[in-house]
Amino acid sequence: MAPAASARTYPLRVFDAAVVEVRDLSPHFRRLTFAGPALATFGVPGPTVDLRIKLLLPTPGHPLTTLGSSGGQLQEGWYQEWLRRDQPGRGFIRSYTVRALRDTPQGRVLDVDFVIHPVEPGQHAPASEWAQAAVPGTPVVLIGPDLTALTPETPSSEAGIRWDPQGAAHVLLAGDETAVPAISSILENLPPGMDGHAFLEVPETYDACTVTTASSVRVTWLPRKESGAGLGQLLNEAVRALTAGLPLDAGAETYAWVAAEASVVREIRRHLVQAVGLDPKRSEFRGYWSLGKAGSGANGTPIVPAS
Ligand SMILES: Cc1cc2nc3c(=O)[nH]c(=O)nc-3n(C[C@H](O)[C@H](O)[C@H](O)COP(=O)(O)OP(=O)(O)OC[C@H]3O[C@@H](n4cnc5c(N)ncnc54)[C@H](O)[C@@H]3O)c2cc1C
Repeated sequence: MAPAASARTYPLRVFDAAVVEVRDLSPHFRRLTFAGPALATFGVPGPTVDLRIKLLLPTPGHPLTTLGSSGGQLQEGWYQEWLRRDQPGRGFIRSYTVRALRDTPQGRVLDVDFVIHPVEPGQHAPASEWAQAAVPGTPVVLIGPDLTALTPETPSSEAGIRWDPQGAAHVLLAGDETAVPAISSILENLPPGMDGHAFLEVPETYDACTVTTASSVRVTWLPRKESGAGLGQLLNEAVRALTAGLPLDAGAETYAWVAAEASVVREIRRHLVQAVGLDPKRSEFRGYWSLGKAGSGANGTPIVPAS
């Protein structure tokens, strides 16, 4: 029998690690590899697919105030407690995807692919700037699933996994550059029986990378720069072209996983649900960032331009 919710250990904890490798993958992607003894218990029992972690980033020049118990254990309500703290010690929290979790002779290591994105003059982007400055030895504090706290009954969503095709054999994956790590990892884990399409919109051709999949899903890269397209335009057009002329119930058997800038996701969701008949409860639509707002996800903080 599953332990009562109150007796269960909270599935997420704080892990202290350090950058051990920095690799520029393309003009806009930088891979940082994290390692450290604490990561021995980081992870989920199965494939990480689109597993999300949160990075706790310092205000430059100021130490972070400690989060969680001395062992890093977190409890329900930790985020609200963090929000009540004062800057500069509070730092910044941003969400990222585990691109890969690897067991090496040196221990468990974790790859995270950062988009190095533009920042308006006078504004800041704590995560992108931190990734640009990181070198081997830079400490990193991350929040993610604690293997020792997960039980077979723990829903994977509580560990940070949203991918849940619910038996569908046909998938539609669509994302911008921030979702490339998640879609690449999902594709690597798809079984041979699956088919469908994956659309990946990236800043330029050189940001397209090699992805491997045993499935029959067709992968299409959509570079903006070369076509002069605006943010989200190519993704939207690709999804609309794919679904053009399909009957209203065509989406019933498809599992869609869509992650990109929040307004782009809203538009694609509206089209897939209203025009293609996709069941929103059997799909995943997630704003990964918001244009002009600070913070991960669809509900960032509006940035007030410096006067
Ligand atoms: C579950 C989840 C998983 C994610 N996984 C990844 C991942 O693996 N790799 C990754 O790079 N991102 C990922 N993201 C997106 C990332 O969290 C956001 O892009 C985040 O806003 C970056 O923080 P920042 O401190 O650099 O910029 P912020 O301080 O949040 O924003 C500063 C300014 O930059 C803009 N901005 C933010 N991101 C971008 C961008 N990509 N392109 C252009 N302008 C931008 C904002 O609109 C704002 O004007 C993920 C988000 C979620 C919710």
